[in-house]
Amino acid sequence: MNKKIELKGQCLCGEVKYKLSEKPLFTQACHCKDCKVLTGSSYVINSSILENTLTITDGELSATKKLIAGSGKFITIFFCKNCGAYIYTDYESAIGRLNVRTQTLENSKTFPPQAHIFTKDKDEWVNLSNINNCFENV
Ligand SMILES: [Zn+2]
Ligand SMILES: [Zn+2]
Repeated sequence: MNKKIELKGQCLCGEVKYKLSEKPLFTQACHCKDCKVLTGSSYVINSSILENTLTITDGELSATKKLIAGSGKFITIFFCKNCGAYIYTDYESAIGRLNVRTQTLENSKTFPPQAHIFTKDKDEWVNLSNINNCFENV
């Protein structure tokens, strides 16, 4: 099986560039309140990847202090020092995995969300009636 590919991504200002050596494992949209505050939008789209498939090729990231996720587990968010764009999140509960912000990938359109989670917090103007994989919580 040939999974070796190269996917590129970057922040808003272009200082931080990264590549993935494998396709994301899974892409999901999260409608929880934390993600709304973090993104300023109705939901975030994250792609789960194996930690060792991510290489930061340019620029420098800053990290938040540990934050507490809805699950009660710690998360750390990594973002561009200059423009503040969030690149990825490290969930303490998911060892060896990271979640990249799907929209920072060059070809993010090829990774639509395969599931929507925390739809109990979904904004009422977001219509998911044609989507099967919705989960009230995780
Ligand atoms: Zn930047
Ligand atoms: Zn969330």
